[in-house]
Amino acid sequence: MTEFFQSQSVVLLAIFGLFVLALAGLLLWHRRRKKLAKGPYIESSDIQKTFDPSRSEVLLEVTKNLREGILIVGRDMTIASYNDQAQNIISRLNGSSERRRLSEAVRDLSVHEAFEKALTVGTFSEVKLENFGPERKAFDLRVAPLEIGGGRQAIGIFYDITELERLEKVRREFLSNVSHELRTPLTSIIAFVETLEDGALEDVDHNRQFLNVIRKNAHRMHRLIDDILELSSIEAGKIAVEPRDIQLFPLVREVSVNLAAKAGDKQVTIKNEISPDTRVRADAFRLEQMLTNLLDNAVKFNREKGEVSICHERHNGSDLIHVTDTGEGISEEHLPRLFERFYRTDKARSRDLGGTGLGLAIVKHLARLHGGEVTVVSEAEKGSVFTIELPR
Ligand code: ADP
Repeated sequence: MTEFFQSQSVVLLAIFGLFVLALAGLLLWHRRRKKLAKGPYIESSDIQKTFDPSRSEVLLEVTKNLREGILIVGRDMTIASYNDQAQNIISRLNGSSERRRLSEAVRDLSVHEAFEKALTVGTFSEVKLENFGPERKAFDLRVAPLEIGGGRQAIGIFYDITELERLEKVRREFLSNVSHELRTPLTSIIAFVETLEDGALEDVDHNRQFLNVIRKNAHRMHRLIDDILELSSIEAGKIAVEPRDIQLFPLVREVSVNLAAKAGDKQVTIKNEISPDTRVRADAFRLEQMLTNLLDNAVKFNREKGEVSICHERHNGSDLIHVTDTGEGISEEHLPRLFERFYRTDKARSRDLGGTGLGLAIVKHLARLHGGEVTVVSEAEKGSVFTIELPR
């Protein structure tokens, strides 16, 4: 009897065990199905394990390849994170992002204050920073509070504004130069018109002379406006050159003929020393424009009975066109800035000779549009050689 009950309880135990196992299997199967039904999503607990959104590294990972520097500072004013760009900028500002405390890394009080404000008051601020090393750089630092992961940090973004400032300076200088250049002939025109109105109109000995001055100044304004428009079009990329294989000799002959009267006034001889079979790769119209500017200067700044010659040589796969004059030359200190707009060695003299100060800047841009360059070698009192280099 006892044996019977013993065998009965073993069977019951086995059945109960099997039942528990089946139930556990069912539960596991159900959980797995639920998980699969969710598709490719990851459970939030998984995210917590892989990355913590409260960590500012996540932000830095996203901004790793930005041009802007990113610096994140914690509540205790210690540097929490920064990207490579921020590290470069801080070292440019003679600081070190390796230091933990912000005050040690960047020794600029305004930077410290900006981060402090973002952390304590929660407001946005902007600071301008610059370094005056061998290469001047300017940065705009914008600091804002950063609320992530339940705590507050402060994020600073450094924008490199060096190029922007340079362009702004160029624009300001250009505007001031243009206004000045236009004002000079305009003042003269107004003065002579008023003189004529005040009675000089009846002065038969001088009225024509006054009208002549007015005409000359009006022409100067016209030339200036033409040159400004031309330069603006080139710089705005509106002018495209179409280089073709062209004959150089007839082109130089045409430019020389156009300037013959002007050269004749000064008894300057223009020599076309180009061989008749020379061919270069250039946009004919633009090359004519460049040569006209160079030849015009070579005549203008020449001495009485001087000489201008144009020759060609091939060098290292490029065509070099040299315009040589026997004029007053240019002293060394002016050479580095000679191709800048409105740069003149003698402003008053250039104006008297009808110059705008833009000719060489136009030549430089046109040569570069051809993939080439314009250069000058000159010596005061001896003369100058301007060379247009055109790639083959
Ligand atoms: P500009 O209208 O005054 O001629 P450019 O841009 O053509 O303006 O030339 C700028 C300045 O470069 C001139 O004012 C002059 O001082 C100098 N320059 C240019 N070409 C010559 C040259 N062949 N000989 C001497 N000085 C020159």
